[in-house]
Amino acid sequence: MATISCKRCGKDGEQLDQKPLGGSLGDEIRDSICASCWAEWDELQLKIINEYRLNLAIPQHYDMLVDEMRNFLNLKEGATGTQSLELEDD
Ligand SMILES: [Zn+2]
Repeated sequence: MATISCKRCGKDGEQLDQKPLGGSLGDEIRDSICASCWAEWDELQLKIINEYRLNLAIPQHYDMLVDEMRNFLNLKEGATGTQSLELEDD
């Protein structure tokens, strides 16, 4: 299993076997977050989803969770427009 330098814990850790999410965000996480930090987030995100009653089919809710995830995983440099709450409705 490959080892990566984790941006969250600052250590060298095991790389995730698979991208945890689709798209470039999944690549970013796989390249920069170790498996044990991802496991921590995986547990925490369930609590966040329950606490805020997030429905991830709703883009705003999904963006909110991604925002929390970036904070938690120390992945803040990517400006992906998560601050925008506008919905493209067409
Ligand atoms: Zn880590």
